[in-house]
Amino acid sequence: MTNILEIKNLHVEIEGKEILKGLNLEIKEGDIHTLMGPNGSGKSTLANVIMGHPKYQITQGEIIFQGEKINDLSPDEKAKLGVFMSFQYPQEIEGVNIRNFLRTAYQNVHGKISVMDFKKLIDEKAKILNLKDEFSDRYLNKGFSGGEKKKSEMLQLAILNPKLTILDETDSGLDIDALRSVAESINLLKEKNPKLTVIIITHYKRILEYIKPNKLSIMINGKIALEGSSDLVNHLEEKGYGWIEED
Ligand code: ADP
Ligand code: MG
Repeated sequence: MTNILEIKNLHVEIEGKEILKGLNLEIKEGDIHTLMGPNGSGKSTLANVIMGHPKYQITQGEIIFQGEKINDLSPDEKAKLGVFMSFQYPQEIEGVNIRNFLRTAYQNVHGKISVMDFKKLIDEKAKILNLKDEFSDRYLNKGFSGGEKKKSEMLQLAILNPKLTILDETDSGLDIDALRSVAESINLLKEKNPKLTVIIITHYKRILEYIKPNKLSIMINGKIALEGSSDLVNHLEEKGYGWIEED
């Protein structure tokens, strides 16, 4: 498989402080790639920069998505290319149900769709994810549990059908049932679309028991310090991050 994402010698600053310090990473199309590393190593910074968050400044290096340099694209332009990140919604959006919210998100990426056709699409995806049709009638995040928020994110993922999705600590704070449900959703979407590429940023081994990543990278101090198969996670559980040498 070809690389869907290539990051070359990436240096990124926020408010004049260098956070990413010459990071290199290659992600193959269809891979499930896990990214781990200590707090503050720059994982979220990397995710935000890939998405095009304006607060972060690329001072050197390249982000190449499907052969095209995307350093300077806006988050909107990146979404149109098929890059998605699971993000925290605003607390609640008064009077907006999930279906209307997702229709707007869909239209931003894929262009106009009628209310009827969108209803069909969302019902089909809800079915794949084992969600009740009524789920999309609910107001966005109103009274949602952590698990339900994640379900609406998974529905958004299914609807937008991106090429690359980044899940930044999506598993944090979930109980075991919610965690399993997120993992199952990813596996179902992956089954439907084997080319879906997923970057999972996590602190915990447990999500990796349900989603089998092909690769694991460990980030330390703004760089990828080690790359390997998902078995690496067992070393981490035993020894922490201290045994990995920084260069
Ligand atoms: P991780 O996700 O691996 O825990 P982050 O990317 O969130 O790491 O943070 C990396 C470093 O960047 C930390 O030292 C953090 O303090 C700093 N940082 C992140 N976001 C900001 C910000 N908005 N303003 C200032 N410093 C930030
Ligand atoms: Mg983080």
